[in-house]
Amino acid sequence: MSARTPFVCGNWKMNGTVSEAEALATGVRRLTGSVRGVEVGVAPPTVALTAVAKRLEGSTVRLAAQAVHPAASGAYTGEVSTAMLASVSCTHALVGHSERRQYNGIDDAAAADRVAALLGGGVSPLLCVGERLDEREAGAALEVVGRQVRAGLAPVGPDDVDRVVLAYEPVWAIGTGKTATPAQAQEVHAFIRGLLKEVLGVEAAAGMRILYGGSVKPANAAELMGRPDIDGALVGGASLNDESFAAIVRAARPSR
Ligand code: PEP
Repeated sequence: MSARTPFVCGNWKMNGTVSEAEALATGVRRLTGSVRGVEVGVAPPTVALTAVAKRLEGSTVRLAAQAVHPAASGAYTGEVSTAMLASVSCTHALVGHSERRQYNGIDDAAAADRVAALLGGGVSPLLCVGERLDEREAGAALEVVGRQVRAGLAPVGPDDVDRVVLAYEPVWAIGTGKTATPAQAQEVHAFIRGLLKEVLGVEAAAGMRILYGGSVKPANAAELMGRPDIDGALVGGASLNDESFAAIVRAARPSR
C-alpha cells in the first residue's frame, strides 16, 4: 500500500450561487465525513469561499481556491492574494489549471510565481499540468508535461515538498467525457514521478501526491486511482453533485 494519503478535490469552477455552494459543501461534509484514509477538498468560486469555510468549520474537508495572484497587494483589479485566501481558511489553491492557462494567460512562469507566493504565505499549491490533444497526437505529451512540472516546481525547496500537490489533467479529457485510460494516465504519472526524483530527490518523489483529473466519475474512479502512481483525483463536473463526489471519495479508499 502506498504511504501517500489519497486526495480527492472537487473543482466547482464557475458554478452555483453562494447558497448553492453552501448546500453542496454541507452535503460533501455529511457524505464524506465517515470515509477514512482519504483527504477531501473542495474549490468553490472565490465569492463563496467565506460561506463555504463556515460550513466546513470543524471538519477535515480542505478548502481550496481556484486561482491566486502572486503579488501581496496592489492595483490588480479582480484578483486575490495568498494572504486573502489564508484569511478565509483556504489551505490549498489550484495553480495553472488548463482553463486558466487557456483563458487567463497563465503560462509556466506565471504558474511558478503563484507556487512561490502560495508557499511563502502558507497555502499549499495544487499545480495542474497536462497536454492538449494536438500535443498528444504529435507525440509530445511527456515533453509538455515535463516542461510544465519542471517550471512550476522551480520555486519548491526541500522544506516545501510536503505542501505541494500535483494534478495531471490531460486537456482533452477535461469536461469532455473522454477519460484517459488508466494505462495512459499511469504512464504519465510514472513519468512525472521519475522527473520528481531527478528534480527534488527520491524521498520527495515518493511522497508527493499526483492526482489525476479529466472526466473522473464514480464509474471510472476506482480503476484510475487503483494505479500505483495515481494518488487521488481532481474532479470537475462530478463534484457538483454531493452523492457522485462522495462516491469518488469512497473509491479512493486505500483498503477498498
Ligand atoms: C477539472 O476541472 O479539473 C476537471 C478535471 O474537470 P472534469 O472532471 O469535469 O473533466
